[in-house]
Amino acid sequence: MEFKIGLIHGDGIGPEIVNEAQKVLDAVAGKYHHTFHYTNLLLGGASIDATGLPLTEETVAEARTCDAVLMGSIGGDAKTSPWYRLEPSKRPEAGLLGIRKALGLFANLRPAYLYNELRDACPLKDEIIGDEGFNLIIVRELTGGLYFGARETKNIDGVETAVDTLSYNENEIRRIAKRAFEIAMKRNKKVTEVDKANVLDSSRLWRKVTAEVAKEYPEVTYENMLVDNCAMQLVRDPKQFDVILTENMFGDILSDEASMVTGSIGMLSSASLNETSFGLYEPSHGSAPDIAGKNIANPIATILSAAMMLRYSLNLDEEADDVESAVERVLADGYRTGDIYSEGTTKVTCSGMGDAITAILKEA
Ligand code: NAD
Repeated sequence: MEFKIGLIHGDGIGPEIVNEAQKVLDAVAGKYHHTFHYTNLLLGGASIDATGLPLTEETVAEARTCDAVLMGSIGGDAKTSPWYRLEPSKRPEAGLLGIRKALGLFANLRPAYLYNELRDACPLKDEIIGDEGFNLIIVRELTGGLYFGARETKNIDGVETAVDTLSYNENEIRRIAKRAFEIAMKRNKKVTEVDKANVLDSSRLWRKVTAEVAKEYPEVTYENMLVDNCAMQLVRDPKQFDVILTENMFGDILSDEASMVTGSIGMLSSASLNETSFGLYEPSHGSAPDIAGKNIANPIATILSAAMMLRYSLNLDEEADDVESAVERVLADGYRTGDIYSEGTTKVTCSGMGDAITAILKEA
């Protein structure tokens, strides 16, 4: 099959990690007889340097012609980079918010998976992790709720008062709920809807609408959980979760908690999807300017983001499984970049890790 893939190399370690992910995609294309047509897109600091803006109309228009976009990270060191002397709307991060909005990316997917080989990095006790570890994904609504509601700070009778509005309509909830159930159908068929329905009206609407959607997916086990309980359960028994479905702010907080629990930032992928199969795929970590250009970054989060792209946008499940297995194999074979290195393992560079994963893919 033929696909068009946008590549945003981005800033800092972005170009290095995207190059390794592209190597892996090329190996997949060769092995499964697909053709990937790549187009390079500018975003963030690289776009500011080239055009004066963190996001241009050309980037948005070209991204719209792609089946999916794979991105490294954007941004620089806020203390030293000239990008941060610009007004906030012209800084690198404004480009990322802008492209998410322009492409209608309302569903954010953040997997948290514990690799057996990296158990030592997990801050949880062995008896909590168990033999099988955990493998969950947080599906977070990305374009509604508190972060996008009306807000103001005003003085009422001499008292400074701030108001933020948390608003969701049933359509916004239904479309993300459907996404979560479809994802659960590709995984272990369980959805936990997380809210604060004992207090918030918006949460009660989330429960009502997701319960309706659940009826369309009888194979999927559906449950509700209060957000405070979920925050506890993530550290008490993360194995119980498959897909966690939640609104914007709860998802923001819980996804960072879940990623901390895995213990290794260089391993965590993410995706933002719109109503079609299109998605923007990127590692959960930033552009790591402190190690940029040294060929020591861990490219695995970006390679796993490419695997998510194969699964969710290109519908190539077998190929995605193959990439994920290759990552497990290199870890089992003892290859580690500096950030996950421990005694007795073999330290490799960023390109060395990409080469090792590619070699395994080509071998099988
Ligand atoms: P960061 O994630 O870039 O780095 C935090 C620490 O983790 C650093 O010590 C870094 O060296 C290390 N690290 C991160 N990724 C790594 C990898 N793949 N391999 C090895 N080590 C890795 O966070 P930060 O320093 O707070 O942010 C740096 C820049 O990235 C900022 O401009 C920030 O705004 C931006 N940022 C971008 C995104 C994005 O593009 N979505 C996300 C977060 C931060």
